[in-house]
Amino acid sequence: MPEAPDQNSPGSKGPKPLKSTLNLPQTAFPMKAGLPIHEPLRLKQWQDSDLYGQIRRARAGSPRYILHDGPPYANGAIHLGHALNKTLKDFVVKTKTMAGFDAPYVPGWDCHGLPIEIKVDEQLGLKKLQMDPVAVRQACRTYAQKYLDLQRSQFIRMGVFGRWAAPYSTMDPVYEARIAETFFHFFERGFFYKGLKPVSWCIHDRTALAEAEVEYEMHTSPSVYVRYKLTSVADIKNFAAATEIFKRATVFGRDVYTIIWTTTPWTLPASLAVAFHPRFEYVALQVESGDVYIVAAELAPQVIAACNLGETKEIARFQGLALDRASFHHPFLEREVLGVHADYVTADQGTGAVHTAPAHGVDDFATGKRYDLPEVQYVDNAGRQIGTERFGGGVPQPYEGLTVFKSNPVIIELLKEKGALLAVSNMEHSYPHCWRCHKPVITRATEQWFIKMDTEMTAPDGTSTTFRQRALEEIKTVTWDPAWGQERITNMVLTRPDWCISRQKMWGVPIAVFLCGKCGEPLRSPEINKSIVALFMRESADAWFIRTPEEILPAGTACVCGHTDFRKEMDMLDVWFDAGSSSHAVIDFDPDVQQAPGDPDPRADLYAEGGDQHRGWFMSSLLCSIGMHNRAPFKSVATFGWTLDEKGRALSKSLGNFIDPVAIMDTLGGDIVRLWVASVDFREDVVASQPLLKRLAEEIYRKLRNTFRFLLGALSETDPSTGLAHDFDPRPMADGGDGIAFDAMQPIDQYILARTAELTRKIRAAYEAFEFHRVYHLLNEFLNSELSAFYLDVLKDRLYTYPIKFKPGNAEQQALYLARRSAQTAIYKITDALARLTAPILSFTADEVYQSLPHTQGSVHLTLFPTPEDLAPIAHTSQLIADWEILLRVRDSVLRDLEKRRAEKQIGKSIDALVEIEVHVDHPDIREVLDKYKAQLPELFNVSQVSVQSYSSNPGHALPYIALAMPAGGKKCERCWRFVWDEPTTKYPTVCHRCAEALDAIDFPPYAATSSMEK
Ligand SMILES: [Zn+2]
Ligand SMILES: [Zn+2]
Ligand SMILES: [Zn+2]
Repeated sequence: MPEAPDQNSPGSKGPKPLKSTLNLPQTAFPMKAGLPIHEPLRLKQWQDSDLYGQIRRARAGSPRYILHDGPPYANGAIHLGHALNKTLKDFVVKTKTMAGFDAPYVPGWDCHGLPIEIKVDEQLGLKKLQMDPVAVRQACRTYAQKYLDLQRSQFIRMGVFGRWAAPYSTMDPVYEARIAETFFHFFERGFFYKGLKPVSWCIHDRTALAEAEVEYEMHTSPSVYVRYKLTSVADIKNFAAATEIFKRATVFGRDVYTIIWTTTPWTLPASLAVAFHPRFEYVALQVESGDVYIVAAELAPQVIAACNLGETKEIARFQGLALDRASFHHPFLEREVLGVHADYVTADQGTGAVHTAPAHGVDDFATGKRYDLPEVQYVDNAGRQIGTERFGGGVPQPYEGLTVFKSNPVIIELLKEKGALLAVSNMEHSYPHCWRCHKPVITRATEQWFIKMDTEMTAPDGTSTTFRQRALEEIKTVTWDPAWGQERITNMVLTRPDWCISRQKMWGVPIAVFLCGKCGEPLRSPEINKSIVALFMRESADAWFIRTPEEILPAGTACVCGHTDFRKEMDMLDVWFDAGSSSHAVIDFDPDVQQAPGDPDPRADLYAEGGDQHRGWFMSSLLCSIGMHNRAPFKSVATFGWTLDEKGRALSKSLGNFIDPVAIMDTLGGDIVRLWVASVDFREDVVASQPLLKRLAEEIYRKLRNTFRFLLGALSETDPSTGLAHDFDPRPMADGGDGIAFDAMQPIDQYILARTAELTRKIRAAYEAFEFHRVYHLLNEFLNSELSAFYLDVLKDRLYTYPIKFKPGNAEQQALYLARRSAQTAIYKITDALARLTAPILSFTADEVYQSLPHTQGSVHLTLFPTPEDLAPIAHTSQLIADWEILLRVRDSVLRDLEKRRAEKQIGKSIDALVEIEVHVDHPDIREVLDKYKAQLPELFNVSQVSVQSYSSNPGHALPYIALAMPAGGKKCERCWRFVWDEPTTKYPTVCHRCAEALDAIDFPPYAATSSMEK
């Protein structure tokens, strides 16, 4: 970083007026950013001038780039994850805009769903019971709107550009109608069916509960160990040992069992399988009676103790996989129970053999699906045992009709009676309870609507395929960034069960189907479905709650069975279906989110969200779009990591490491949040902490800002003879400006422009690849190594001391003047390029820099990125760069020697020095370059004099060159402090000839020497 001129600057020792002739930096661009105060003012300016609208109009007709926004949930203020998400999207939109695309951004919000309904429930309390559903929905709508508005203002504050005045929202009546339309599209094509699915269920309130409605409280449950008799190993493959044990035991009239442990004996009537972990070790233990028990090896000691098995002998040991498809007998029903394998079996507690009731567990249900076990309800919605008659097979059913908790002791008695009970006790444990009535809840299979993943459909090429296959095919047409996203979503689609689409709640879009009051069949009429879509569009989905079937259905509507009474399905659609419908609801109808008309590939260019959305929005969008359009909705998908603290923990209020992005903007600035986002590789989990953000603000940002300030300061000057200020005009001199053509510039200026051209090329490539952290590093590296440590450092002499004008006919004055304009031309181009290249990231500061640049108009956000050719004719700079690589290597040696001499107190400042460079005769190329740029060497090394010599000792082994610094001879100029051999002029006797020209140019009054130039 160049230092601000101070007492030790050149000229300060001279007669006081002499110092006033130096062209020190001057700019209104403040050192202190004051971002928390100035950013809101700039935002207002952007808003008042409709900057987003201006940008869109300026790019009208250019190729479109569509980033389709994933809707955040309108619940609460924004957190750092939101800030990361929206800022990254803004980086994409702004970089595409500045690369010349018409890149609209229409933000969206996800507004339906249980989390909002629960918050509203909490607010309404008991009042809710007296409210009709429409009033509750209205309360939900108001709640969602409040947070939509809050989040919107926070995203705007971050400097994110978009169509904020007209976002999309899933609770908009038109959007609600489009959700229903998407649903009907699936429904009419046979994707939907009603089936069973286990859910958390309150038997008191007779309702399904969402995850968030379940609270954990202590509860006492019976804990039982039950033995299941092995009846057949006929279907077991690769288990010679099992067959052997089985044979041996049965030959001697003994039995082989496995033991299960459960705290819900009431689920035993629904027991259809016993699960073993495929990779756990299991042991077969023979007890004194000769019977054999199979349990997990690791849990065997506990089970032996708990079940009082006494002396046991291990007679075999094998992997759990071996019991796959073994057959057991149900402990009290006439039913065969299947041996299955499952990864969720743990070795923490129990026996390693898990009784599996698909109707009463989510994992169990999935296992049931995998093994094609029957889907049956064993418990009704009041929690009573049912269905045993159908599946019992003649066993007395003393528990039939009892509620599940009451059936527990009866079933335990039954187990005892059948000799299947090995142990029983009571256990106090944390158990799910209903958040409303605080009674224990159960897991129960209920009727739900599903989208069948293996629905048969036709591919666009006319071949028959399935929904799942289409999804897998479409995934391959998409670019996944990072690439592992493809495998991840592919595996999810391969293994995902049918999509359960129904929710038992009020705040959402209903599954708008009429069911026959007699046979229960849904009404399937595309005309009626269309009229429902139109109704929702007019009245919102509230209409489903307000209107009776008679009001909606045309007179005379009848079921296939002939019946004419209908009831409305009151389940709502899964909110993922809402968000997934956005490709239809938004992209199909909003001209701002579409590719240009006639585009052969109407997909959005990019969906970009957190990595958890492979399962969420990317999946639901993919499936909804295939259902609707038979194609993926996106060409590419990018995913972000999680925001963690420095120890890898999630950011949370309870851990005390929470970071409120709004507070950061209010104290450090929106650009600091943006700079942080650019500094991290978003594809990985990203780290954030208060100290880190503070460091970004106080070190990185401040450095950046000071560099911009120095650059801007070099572009304005005041003529001491007239007192008139002049701002550098970048137009060519031929057009009345101050700009110098590249070929006429000083070599050092040409070189830095060539480097800036290279930087431009690299940054643009990094933006293109969404490698924002690379942009961040390239920028910092350039500012530190190229500008601060090199270019701006060596430039000070030329900027401060060379003449700011020249007298006609004075060729020497003119040459010096042009050399200074050459530096300013380079600085102008660099500043302009950096402002534009950083605009997508530092949206506020870059705009401030750009508007502080003389002769610019409007916002930086209306400009395009610079091209490398704007900075330097790249084709002609390779020799230049090669030369300067040599010069900069020599410079390193020179600086090292200067440092050494300074430390040894042989010289004072580097400007006091003469540097002698001795080049070995074996390296004529180096000698040649040094001779070529001889005139630039003192400036490059910031010394008074340079001499270049050759040497020839130790041929073949010597250093290519040696740099030696020593005190310079001659006299010291009082203005520029260089040591020169110039004869003092009579007009300005204390300064060098160069400075005399600078003084003459501004008609500085001649003065007599108080002391002539120092010796
Ligand atoms: Zn309840
Ligand atoms: Zn019917
Ligand atoms: Zn001088």
